Amino acid sequence: MSFDLDSLIRPNVRVMKPYSSARDEFQGDARVMLDANENSLGSAGPAEFNRYPDPHQHAVKQALAPLKGVKPEQVFLSNGSDEVIDLLVRLVARPGQDSILSTPPTFGMYEVAAALNDVALERVPLDADFQLSEAAIAQIIASKAKIVFLCSPNNPTGNLLRPAAIEQILRGFPGLVVVDEAYADFADQPSWITRLPEFDNLVVLQTFSKAWGLAGIRLGMAFGSPEVMAYLNRIKMPYNVSENTQRLALAALADTGRFEAMRQDLLQGRDTLRVALAALPIVDHIFPSDANFLLTRFVPDAGAVYQHLLNQGIVVRRPSQAACAGTLRLTVGSAAENDALVAALREFSPAG
Ligand SMILES: *Cc1c(COP(=O)(O)O)cnc(C)c1O
Repeated sequence: MSFDLDSLIRPNVRVMKPYSSARDEFQGDARVMLDANENSLGSAGPAEFNRYPDPHQHAVKQALAPLKGVKPEQVFLSNGSDEVIDLLVRLVARPGQDSILSTPPTFGMYEVAAALNDVALERVPLDADFQLSEAAIAQIIASKAKIVFLCSPNNPTGNLLRPAAIEQILRGFPGLVVVDEAYADFADQPSWITRLPEFDNLVVLQTFSKAWGLAGIRLGMAFGSPEVMAYLNRIKMPYNVSENTQRLALAALADTGRFEAMRQDLLQGRDTLRVALAALPIVDHIFPSDANFLLTRFVPDAGAVYQHLLNQGIVVRRPSQAACAGTLRLTVGSAAENDALVAALREFSPAG
């Protein structure tokens, strides 16, 4: 396999001239800033946000890169991972011609990004253990798809994909291999970020939405070669990460103690919740989890359990994929929330 990034990039992207914003052309502090048609008088509302944000989020990348063991030019930040998933599709897949590949049951945004961009989605299903079989790996490697999205730990199943399978795909697949690690902070294996030096075609996605506890600020991270990151920078909206988000992300990155404490609490909560669920007669199986949720199969009727929980004011997720029939995806919450969930399940009797 030879990986040729330039020939993978859509021709229109290769030749396009990116928009050059006022903040691209002048960076730094000047005495008088009259270049961007901002309002120099201030902001309506309680906080000052009258200046455009840094379009390349230098400060956030400076703080984040050492934490991840990469250089700032190997980082791309986005308005949630959702944005970078869409950008990756637009970077390489031509509408009406090309395809991308995903491995259901998995995260739904890959399919949405394909549909939105008029790009076909090739589906190579995971096996009964939610892993990639040898046949699946061979099919992926032989595929003409421009990107394969591998979600590990996988949503909604919770498991890590076998590293050897991902490695085979990285070595054999000629397009981009995107490993979505939204849940990596809950996994007991090293991130694929550590393997970036070996694979030019690898892009790793992480997010501030899960372990960092910042779903509301919308900040996604992509890690990859400086060349791929540079292409993403060409096609992104100039100010895709708001000033508010950048400030809050910087503050979070300076508070790794709280991050680590919450992460440990959630891992502990996952263990406690698993033990409590396993004792319930309506629980048939709890799938292995390296994430902050437990995919749980209920008998005889997961739909009735879902409705019962809803009636108690408890919302869980009912995965729609056929391979997840009979299951509910239970997010690990606070200790009180986990207790409330287990208490409601204990009360449930299928007869009504
Ligand atoms: C939650 C999640 C994300 C994060 O998406 P954001 O847009 O960053 O909130 C990404 N991928 C998967 C698989 C997820 O489950």
